[in-house]
Amino acid sequence: MSALSRKWLGLAARNPRLAWDKARITLRNRLGGRWDYTFGNGRARPPATLCLKLSNACNLRCRMCGQPRENARPGDPKYAPPDFFRQSVSLDVYQRLIDEMKRFRPTLYLWGGEPFLYPHLFELIARIKAAGLVCQINTNGLLIEKHARELVESGLDDLIVSVDGPAEVHDAVRGRRGVFARLQRGVDALAEARRQLGSRTPVLRVRGTICPENFASLSELPPIARRFGADSLNFNWTWFTTRQAGQAHQALMRRLFDIDARSWIPFLSETVLDRETRLRFEALSAELQKLQRQAGDLPITLSPHIRPDQVESYFTDVRQSFGCRDCFAVYVKSYILPNGDVTPCPDFPDYIAGSIVDKPFLEIWNGEHYRAWRRELKKHRLFPVCTRCCDLYLSSIQFV
Ligand code: SF4
Ligand code: SF4
Repeated sequence: MSALSRKWLGLAARNPRLAWDKARITLRNRLGGRWDYTFGNGRARPPATLCLKLSNACNLRCRMCGQPRENARPGDPKYAPPDFFRQSVSLDVYQRLIDEMKRFRPTLYLWGGEPFLYPHLFELIARIKAAGLVCQINTNGLLIEKHARELVESGLDDLIVSVDGPAEVHDAVRGRRGVFARLQRGVDALAEARRQLGSRTPVLRVRGTICPENFASLSELPPIARRFGADSLNFNWTWFTTRQAGQAHQALMRRLFDIDARSWIPFLSETVLDRETRLRFEALSAELQKLQRQAGDLPITLSPHIRPDQVESYFTDVRQSFGCRDCFAVYVKSYILPNGDVTPCPDFPDYIAGSIVDKPFLEIWNGEHYRAWRRELKKHRLFPVCTRCCDLYLSSIQFV
């Protein structure tokens, strides 16, 4: 039996629902998305995952984050007007979405900003669960301790917490002291609430972003994930783009869709290949090799799956897409922003296909704007910023 089969079987024995969910989404990404891409002429069957960005506001200011932040001043690439951080979709509009989509059984993935800052979070989860749908939250974990019992009682399926390394590394990446300790207290409170209520949910998953600040300490994350009682550990590589790719993207978006696509600017990062940088890459390669040795029974995935010898090229050659030459994500998942706008892309949300405030979601999903985006994307294979977007690698996530 291959190592991969053993890991799938291990995951299925440990958490059958999580394994089924992963298998279903992997199949949809790999087969359904590819089918629609090939034969759909821009159309797609209803999405497997609906990602609701509940709030643009956040209670942290992480170093690697490319989202607008409330403390930025006009002129700063991360500046947005105050109204932007107050946007939120009403429960009535979300309810309409749930009613429309529930027969297709999408997973509802709640994120932000920080999703716990959405004022009706628990009522929304209750409505998603009442419709019989799987609900996941991706959070920085600062508010888990306060809401541990409500989280368990809500019936939430998955809680994904971001962890970037041991306490000092995590706090440095997240930009504030004591954040790791607060997360740890939240995870403990959640375990205690699950125990008191006799519940196995929400399942806890740990997600780490690989960025220069934690290159040398990645292999410290599996023991932390185990200590947290996590069911899996997923690493995403940090997203970024270069000035050349960003400007090419902006020009292309103007020509194709007549929009001013500026969301790449906060993700700008140019890597200088000096001696110090090369040494950091070497440290990262060694950490990746350690990760492979220490996975044991903890499912650890890398997205994208980059081999140690490809690390340098990930950071220095943004044209490199590691064999992923087409984006199928825009056929299988969709992003709804805090003002109700629907966009195909998570962190480059310049193109808006419609708003769920005005229209049923499915009219937007296969409406003229969405189809135009998918058709142009297929014609170009990828847009310039796509190579460092994690959704490009959706169907190539692998166990280490
Ligand atoms: S918690 Fe998430 S949204 Fe908030 S600053 Fe950090 S990376 Fe950005
Ligand atoms: S890979 Fe490109 S098209 Fe696909 S979701 Fe990311 S930015 Fe959008």
